[in-house]
Order: sequence, then structure tokens, then C-alpha cells
Amino acid sequence: MDFEIRYTPEQEAFRQEVRAWLAEHVPPDINKTPESPEEAERLYQARRALGRALGARGWLFPMAPKEYGGGGMDLDQAIILLEEADRVGISLPPFYDTGGILGSGTILVWGTEEQKRAFLPPIYRGEVRAWQLLSEPSAGSDLANVKTRAVRDGDTYVITGQKIFVGSDHGAEGLFTLTCTDPDRPRHENLSWFWIDGRSPGITIQPMDLWGGSSEGGQQVGRKNIVFFDQVRVPAFNLIGGENNGWRVASTHLELEHGFGFTRVLGTRARRLWQQVYDYCCATIRDGRPLVADPAVRDRLAQIYIRLEIQRLFETRNFWLVSARQPRSYEGAQASYYRKMTGLWLTRAIAEIVGPFAFTNDPEWGAAEGYLELQQRDGVCDVHPGGTADIQKVVMARRIGIGRAEPERAGALA
Ligand SMILES: Cc1cc2nc3c(=O)[nH]c(=O)nc-3n(C[C@H](O)[C@H](O)[C@H](O)COP(=O)(O)OP(=O)(O)OC[C@H]3O[C@@H](n4cnc5c(N)ncnc54)[C@H](O)[C@@H]3O)c2cc1C
Repeated sequence: MDFEIRYTPEQEAFRQEVRAWLAEHVPPDINKTPESPEEAERLYQARRALGRALGARGWLFPMAPKEYGGGGMDLDQAIILLEEADRVGISLPPFYDTGGILGSGTILVWGTEEQKRAFLPPIYRGEVRAWQLLSEPSAGSDLANVKTRAVRDGDTYVITGQKIFVGSDHGAEGLFTLTCTDPDRPRHENLSWFWIDGRSPGITIQPMDLWGGSSEGGQQVGRKNIVFFDQVRVPAFNLIGGENNGWRVASTHLELEHGFGFTRVLGTRARRLWQQVYDYCCATIRDGRPLVADPAVRDRLAQIYIRLEIQRLFETRNFWLVSARQPRSYEGAQASYYRKMTGLWLTRAIAEIVGPFAFTNDPEWGAAEGYLELQQRDGVCDVHPGGTADIQKVVMARRIGIGRAEPERAGALA
């Protein structure tokens, strides 16, 4: 298997076109850390405007089908777009949009033709960004235990309940959620999956300030929320995949989230982290010599490089499995588990190299302008979202068939 990517002259010409367009359209301060809520809002709106401009060219969701407003591009073009976006410090989409990325992939698999035509174009054009609303106080790892109720009433469903640890700042035009539609039916056969207008009456968002600073979408999104549904009316048309079939529908985006998502294919976050640590070690003088001259530091740096490279190869392997339509099993959970444990291991490895400077984002003392302090928090926090590290092991065991008559099948991606 050859993972190396090579480009034709036509593809290189496309790269130049993308590079020139991004140079013209990406605001120079897009990655600035906001100093006030007003500035945060301005930068968020700049990202949304950029998203719409990318969407108009089919570059926001480059591989999504053209008939629903996506780019319809091939894999190589999409990778060029990702690489060029990464050069200017953004991802695609350039804002937190886990709901859009995972939700659109799910609607493509489970939606009717009418639902695809209604819900997908606004996502692919960047007009709607979305959050995924799954976890509840009694349904985190045990997601099938969701208690949020959806009750049919004529042409609508009335949804009541609460979701926790969800979303980010600035609200969302779209939400997708998992609800219980029949408490009397067996587990996994009583859930339903909805695509919801995030501005519907009866939705309340209560911010939670957590210590993570997760940087999904190239944007710092330290905030999560509790979202309350108080008799929210949702058209029955927005039920995706049929009533009480929600667990199977959810298995699609869980699969994408665990480790088959397109956006991770380049391993850019890992590479950036490596570069930050390495640059810091080259530039920082301790005991009269650069940190990088210390054999113990060099040893640690080599270990960090190896682990991050293995992580990148897991992601690339997974992406290849999906794009080449190969059989999938435990590989998504495997990549997720490795990513989470690597992040946790890195907190210690980096702290050993950098010392107490790893624990502050004070502009004068914080290593790598505070970026490494962010890693200390994220490395711990990222063990939890999208299924904890323990749960990834549970999924792997089921998929391999440990303790089961038959191995569990992977969620549908097409
Ligand atoms: C930063 C962050 C972002 C998040 N983003 C979202 C989001 O966008 N949308 C969303 O819906 N949710 C989100 N979540 C919620 C996340 O999915 C849950 O926190 C996670 O699934 C764990 O659920 P819990 O917190 O209820 O912990 P619990 O499920 O109560 O687990 C507690 C502990 O028990 C362990 N455990 C539980 N069951 C088992 C088992 N069977 N075997 C072994 N160990 C087990 C867990 O690993 C964990 O260590 C986010 C969470 C965080 C921290």
C-alpha cells in the first residue's frame, strides 16, 4: 500500500488557483485570539462569510455531491483544497460545524430524495452550520439511554428534554439530535433521529465553561452548552430514517466521528503540534544551549514524532478504506482510541521537555505563545468527546467479536 500523494500538472494548476483565491479571501487576522466578545463575534462572522464564499465555489464540502450543492470533486482535488486551507491556518469548513459534517453525511445515507434536497444545499453552501446534540445527563457512554422525548402530534413531533456538553459559541442554524419515540420498545429500537432548525421556539442554550480549548474548525471553541427542548415543534418531514430507526441512523455519524472523517486525513493538527514543540525546543536556550541539544529532549522529540506519525497513518488508512470502499470493522474506533491516548501521553511528554512553561498561557512565560498550555488542557479533555477512550475499546472488542457469537457490523457510510 503506497500512501504517498503525487500530483499531475493539472492538479498543481488547481493548487495555484486555490492558493491565489485563499490569499485574496482569507482575512489576515482570522486566527487572532479574540480579546473581547465583540471581537469574537466579528471573527466568527468573518469565518462564516468565508464559508459562504467557499460554498459558492463548491469548496466548502468539496467531495459532497454536486446535485445537492457540494463540490462534486474527486479525492485529489479535495486533498489539495485541504492542504491549501491548512497552509493559511484554516480547516474546511473554517468554523466549528461538527453537526454539519456528521449530519450531512448521515442525511446522505438515510434521507429521502426530498430531505436531501431540502437539508443538504444550505449546509454545503455554508448558510447553515450545525451542532450534534446527542449526550444527556444519563446518556453519555450509554447513548442508547436517551430520555429526550419526541411525541407525534399530527404533522409534527413535539420534543422535550435536555442535551449536555454540546455545540460551541455563537449559536447554530441547524441541530441534529437523537430522541426516544417509544419508551415501551426495547433499547436501540425506540429512538428517532431529527434534523432541527436551531432557531425553533422552545430551544434554550445554557453555556458551560469547560477547561478544554478544543480547536476544531481552526477556531478556539472552549465552550460547550446544555440545550433544553421545551415542547419544540419539529415537522415530521425532519425525521430522518424513519420512526424508531434512530440507532441505526446514529451509527453512521458515530462511525464518521470515531475515525472515518475526511477532515482528519492530513493529520494537520498533529503536524502543527509537532512543529510547535520542535520550534520551541530549537529557539529556547536553557543552561546556555538550545533545548534541542539536550539528548533527553531529542529522545522525547523523536518519540513524539513517531506517535504523531502513527496517528496520521491510522487516519490516512481509514480514509483510504472508505474512499476505496473496502470492508470496515474496528478501524475507526482504533484511530480514535490511539488519537485520544496519544493526546493524553503528549501532555506528559511535552511537560517533561518544556517544564512549568507548559502550564501557563501568560504571554511572557507560556511556551509557544501559550499553544502548549492549550494542549495540556485539550489532551485531557479530548479523551471524552465522541465516545471516551474506554468506549472506543468497547467498540473495537465488539467489532473484532470478542465475547460475541458474531462480530458487530460497522455503521453504514454509503
Ligand atoms: C469537550 C467535550 C465535547 C463534547 N462534545 C459533544 C458534542 O458535541 N455532542 C454531544 O452530544 N456530546 C458531546 N460531548 C459529550 C461526550 O460525548 C460524553 O462526555 C461522553 O460520551 C462520555 O459520557 P459522560 O460524560 O456521560 O460519561 P459517562 O458515560 O458517565 O462515563 C464516565 C466514565 O465511565 C467510563 N465508562 C462508561 N461506560 C463504560 C463501559 N461500558 N466500559 C468501560 N468504561 C466505561 C467512561 O469511559 C468514563 O471514564 C462532549 C464532551 C466533552 C468533554
